[in-house]
Amino acid sequence: MFKEYNLENVEAKVNEALKKAHKSHELYNDVVTFIDPRAQLANMPKTGKMLGVPIALKDNVCTKGIRTTACSNILNDYEPIYDATIVKKLAAAGAISICKTNMDELAMGGTNLTSNIGACLNPWDTSRMSGGSSGGSAVIVASGAVDFAIGSDTGDSVRKPASYCGVVGVKPTYGRISRYGIIPYSSSLDHVGYFTRTIEDAAVALEVLAGRDDLDMTSSDRPVEAYSQQLNSELKGKKIAVFKNVYDGLTNPDTKALFAKLIANLTAKGAIVEEVSFDEKLLKAILPAYYLIANCEATANHSNLDGIRFGVRKPGKDVEEIMINSRTAGFGSLIRKRFVIGSYGLFVENQEKLFRQAQRVRRLIVEEVKRCLDEYDCLLAPASNDIAPKLNDHGRDELSDEYLIIENHMIIGNFTGYPSMTVPMGMINGCPIGVNLTCKAFAEQTMFDIGAGIEEITGLKDLKKEAA
Ligand code: GLN
Repeated sequence: MFKEYNLENVEAKVNEALKKAHKSHELYNDVVTFIDPRAQLANMPKTGKMLGVPIALKDNVCTKGIRTTACSNILNDYEPIYDATIVKKLAAAGAISICKTNMDELAMGGTNLTSNIGACLNPWDTSRMSGGSSGGSAVIVASGAVDFAIGSDTGDSVRKPASYCGVVGVKPTYGRISRYGIIPYSSSLDHVGYFTRTIEDAAVALEVLAGRDDLDMTSSDRPVEAYSQQLNSELKGKKIAVFKNVYDGLTNPDTKALFAKLIANLTAKGAIVEEVSFDEKLLKAILPAYYLIANCEATANHSNLDGIRFGVRKPGKDVEEIMINSRTAGFGSLIRKRFVIGSYGLFVENQEKLFRQAQRVRRLIVEEVKRCLDEYDCLLAPASNDIAPKLNDHGRDELSDEYLIIENHMIIGNFTGYPSMTVPMGMINGCPIGVNLTCKAFAEQTMFDIGAGIEEITGLKDLKKEAA
């Protein structure tokens, strides 16, 4: 926890964290690049909310002079000439970045199996995946090497791996944290998010990260609240909407039982818990609409990764051939598939019926989320149907209701931009599973408060799986 750090023995503690991070990497492949902390230690501030806290950054966060690959071959030798705004903010708060973490290539994917350095393994069971795309960040926090790691969340890329790895995963409101210097995926859905092992640390971290940044025109100038000072785990009177479709659709009886137990405990603590139903048709439209919007935006955002303007250049007889060769060698098969979908959706003749139609569907889904949350403080549902899947589990039917609804409902947090967080809910066969809560825009305080109440109920505060 952040409180355990300060200026005392800072160098020794950072080196200790680095040692643990190396161990974690050996076991789980969660790190892309280690960072020499000496320059940061020499330039540390004397005060700050994260003084001396060793931290990790997802490898899509630009770090000046430090390799930033987003786990894609095309960015294999990319060294940014500037720091992302959040990197500066974390340094100003006294945090020390010790490594860049493994991720799905360009943050596309939910498994961390598509990274160019290979899969990231789940510390609770190494035959299982970490989840993605921010897998390395989830794992390095779960393994106890660091207490904080930055991730990014476009569909659920912080909240899903948080569930699988047993840590807290936060995606604040769209615009709450500057995205300047984050390699983009889908600009209307991308959020900076992060991992901790306690709600209190999550509250402190948002105080450090949030705020207007003139370098990101989508960042909000709404004042940043004193989330950690105001933190209050009192559940009495909190109005919680249980996401009925997700609850009903759970096929894993253990997950269902854990969730039912949590609901009973919330009620016993005085929360007002009621079920709300989401329009089923709209619910099933979430994933298709998401894929269209995300892939179209990604295709546009990454058109500069061509070996000419950006990226590793491959030889060719003319500009076109250089681009084709660079992009063919530079991207993995999932990325190439997604660019095909994205390009197709952006064809002049398809734009109206695909890309724009998907945006209209998104609008309807946002209205439906608003309706569901209208009278409640948060919408609650398990973050997934099951614990982390096995590494070789490719047999999922992506058109099944289970997949469409249970595995993808957290995308509502990206469609609406509302704050959403996953907190550990319990253990099944020795592996963790999380519960997700989504609140109204800029209601991060409420989200942390309810999260703190849940943390007290489950007793899973500071859960970690340290290497033996
Ligand atoms: N699994 C989703 C996707 O593949 C989410 C990715 C993300 O949030 N970055 O697009």
